[in-house]
Amino acid sequence: MSKAVLEAVDALRDDLVAFTQELVRIPTVNPPGERYGECAGLIGDKLRELGYEVREIRPVGWSSYDPVNQRVNVVGRLTGARTRPLLHFNGHFDVVPVGDPDAWTRDPFGAELAGGRIWGRGTGDQKAGIAASIFAVEAIRRAGVRLAGSVEQSATVDEESGGFTGMAALCRQGVCTSADTDHVVITEPLDVDRVCLGHRGVLWTEVTARGLAAHGSMPGLGRSAADAIARLVARVDTELRPRLEERTTAMPVAPLEARRATINVNALHAGQAVEVEQTPMVADVATAIFDRRFLIEERLADVRAELGALMDRERARDDGIEWSSRERMVVEPVFTDAGAPVARAFALAIREVVGRDATFIASPGTYDQKHVVRIGGVRDCIAYGPGRLVTAHRPDEYVVIDELVDATKVMALAALRLLGTA
Ligand SMILES: [Zn+2]
Repeated sequence: MSKAVLEAVDALRDDLVAFTQELVRIPTVNPPGERYGECAGLIGDKLRELGYEVREIRPVGWSSYDPVNQRVNVVGRLTGARTRPLLHFNGHFDVVPVGDPDAWTRDPFGAELAGGRIWGRGTGDQKAGIAASIFAVEAIRRAGVRLAGSVEQSATVDEESGGFTGMAALCRQGVCTSADTDHVVITEPLDVDRVCLGHRGVLWTEVTARGLAAHGSMPGLGRSAADAIARLVARVDTELRPRLEERTTAMPVAPLEARRATINVNALHAGQAVEVEQTPMVADVATAIFDRRFLIEERLADVRAELGALMDRERARDDGIEWSSRERMVVEPVFTDAGAPVARAFALAIREVVGRDATFIASPGTYDQKHVVRIGGVRDCIAYGPGRLVTAHRPDEYVVIDELVDATKVMALAALRLLGTA
């Protein structure tokens, strides 16, 4: 049976490539989230054509959010002989901006075919993943195999900006929860032979220092928020970072440099805007945004307290600077056991299709698994998809067509194993 399914994937190769190209040619750039409706419509039409019941679902509670670029997610259900078990494939169809167009040698939204690859923004990350899961299930049907369990396919928005209106909304609105979903696969690009079990935690903290403005020729009359924020950033670098570098995780985070706790200054600003004509001023407000990635072995409360302690040291100077902070994003780490059903099914399928043992990894950054596990309560969740992680978000992004086909085969065999046949 698996031979027939693998042959069906090969027979669908041209359709799989063509559908990936169609998806890439819609520039669903986020921010701001362009042409989401068009892309959701294309995916919904394809699912309907292949026999799915399709719903377009708008995030609740976000109706006033960006009226120009409306958020819409699409979900298709293909009921097997029974409703359970249910395997849910999820992919995001938003893509990050092109960046410097001169850094590209290909049309970012042309979906050109050359050198055995499809080129363009969002090929790997992760429109190929959406196409792969759809055609994996279609190959099973074309091979004349009836699944015992059922399949859902969702394509969602805004993953690149946190997924709150995308997969988080589907989980919150009861579309993907443990009440009726058994296994979830997020089709992010992590290489054709790797299964991603989870990710580190994230805490983004915005810290603001407020001082007192004065004429720049008499800085002694003011209190410089710029100097204050610079001292805090220096403390993070010299006091906190060396401690973080010693903390490593047992999670198999790839690449290796990310297998430890990290902190990055994501934004830093003080005083006047840089692009305007300058007048002499002591900066009265300064802001830093810290991106702290924490390990499953660390506690969120401790992570918060560490940065708080550095701010307290600055407060203790009692130099008239007021300090405040607010959290811009909190994500707890998630990690599925390598022995969990969905992880095992994919590892076995990788061995069969690619001919080598799967590597289990964890992602350095987060992705929608957090919402599936934390909001939806579905613990049997991994990420697996075509495309190479190292090409994501870069100029001349591409997906290798042979790898796209192999990943589709892996998904098909894993679905057979997880859902059984009728
Ligand atoms: Zn992605």
